[in-house]
Amino acid sequence: MLPVVALVGRPNVGKSTLFNYLTRSKDALVADFPGLTRDRKYGQARRGEKPFLLVDTGGIVEEACDETGRKTAEGIDEAAMRQVDLALEEADLVLFLVDAREGLNASDEAIARRLRRIAKPILLVANKIDGINASLATAEFHALALGDPLWLAAAHGTGADKLLGEIEALLPETVEEPEGKAPDGIRIAVVGRPNVGKSTLVNRILGEERVVVFDQPGTTRDSIYIPFERNDKPYTLIDTAGVRRRSRVDEAVEKFSIIKTLQAIDRAHVVIYLIDASEGVTDQDASLLGQVLDAGRALIIGLNKWDGLSADQRQTVRRQMDLRLAFVEFAERHCISALHGSGVGVLFDRVDEIYAAGNRNLSTPLLTKLVLEAQEAHQPPLVQGRRIKLKYAHQGGTNPPTVIIHGNQTESLAESYRRYLVNFLRQKLRLQGTPLRLEFRSST
Ligand code: GDP
Ligand code: GDP
Repeated sequence: MLPVVALVGRPNVGKSTLFNYLTRSKDALVADFPGLTRDRKYGQARRGEKPFLLVDTGGIVEEACDETGRKTAEGIDEAAMRQVDLALEEADLVLFLVDAREGLNASDEAIARRLRRIAKPILLVANKIDGINASLATAEFHALALGDPLWLAAAHGTGADKLLGEIEALLPETVEEPEGKAPDGIRIAVVGRPNVGKSTLVNRILGEERVVVFDQPGTTRDSIYIPFERNDKPYTLIDTAGVRRRSRVDEAVEKFSIIKTLQAIDRAHVVIYLIDASEGVTDQDASLLGQVLDAGRALIIGLNKWDGLSADQRQTVRRQMDLRLAFVEFAERHCISALHGSGVGVLFDRVDEIYAAGNRNLSTPLLTKLVLEAQEAHQPPLVQGRRIKLKYAHQGGTNPPTVIIHGNQTESLAESYRRYLVNFLRQKLRLQGTPLRLEFRSST
């Protein structure tokens, strides 16, 4: 499981600046597609040696505030507060940011009191030390009794390497499961917002198939892996809905945790994302799907509760999907009823093929030929009188398939041209259901 680091601090201390710094990948690998809004609350840190999930609790709170930006306790909705509490509960480490320029204040002390109650490693970080005498300015934060404050200027990256080193030293080792104990077969995560029908779907899938170790002695009660077989092939469901812990489907046991959902996405080979068709695509759906895209997971979208919709409603949902989910165009959409079972078999039948697409091996001659073909059909623009030139391409990885394209001045390639290349390659390679990543290497 990805370890979790929660970012806390009063408004304006630089949490989102640090969040952006840590989650921005060193080279922009993932194209920004229309309709995709980057999540500013949850992100995977990619700067250091160890990947971890970073949660900006300030971002969660702000999102829930009204337009006037009031951050009163009443203004913060309950769901957001619950996610903040869960973030603290599920965090392996808390980064507590304070403002070295403004100095210690009452809000910092209130936050510190709350943090002292939870038994978690805490790193106190004094931000905005650029251009000031850091040791003088940060001395007073010792009063928080949380140890020596680390010095940071998030806006400039100063102190970030040291901070990353401290974070990594405190994070639990993410050991790969030992051979033989690892969950079998294709790992499938069924994810989506609360009440969209995840546990109904999981139960339906398991109910119809032979469950191998559902209640085997020795498996921990809170294990989230459910191995099963279908047509003599092993699969493992990653359970985010707490199906295992419920005795009946309608029993609401599990708190909906975005962190658990993101960890499941990270562990999965294939994500089945459920949308409640009677509600349509919500903002949270779009942002969770953005996370699936960022993680590079193969994806199938299930439009659930299709049974209860009129023809008009169905038309509306389809149109809304086309508009709002353009950034995950590669994903197949299936209209299903987890409750009645319709469409579930067909959806499941697609898992193998979509997994295979994500793991395809693509030969260097083929990729080079296609990239040159794309370039011929549509030349990259001139940059300061010189034409950007793509020369050859090879595969850099699978799951998701990653193509490395060599050329010159590729760093100047416009976003629109990268998108064109992605679409061109996807079509020619018939890559269904998986994102495709491009990386560029420039010789000049
Ligand atoms: P948040 O409310 O805690 O998320 O804070 P923001 O990240 O939005 O930052 C608040 C303000 O502080 C912004 O104007 C930032 O540009 C500024 N800021 C953030 N980090 C630094 C820093 O390292 N040095 C300086 N001088 N300003 C910073
Ligand atoms: P979860 O929170 O995502 O695990 O959602 P549940 O599986 O607990 O389902 C939430 C509610 O939606 C329950 O009352 C289900 O009976 C209902 N539900 C689930 N799937 C369907 C469906 O395909 N059609 C209809 N009409 N209701 C469904």
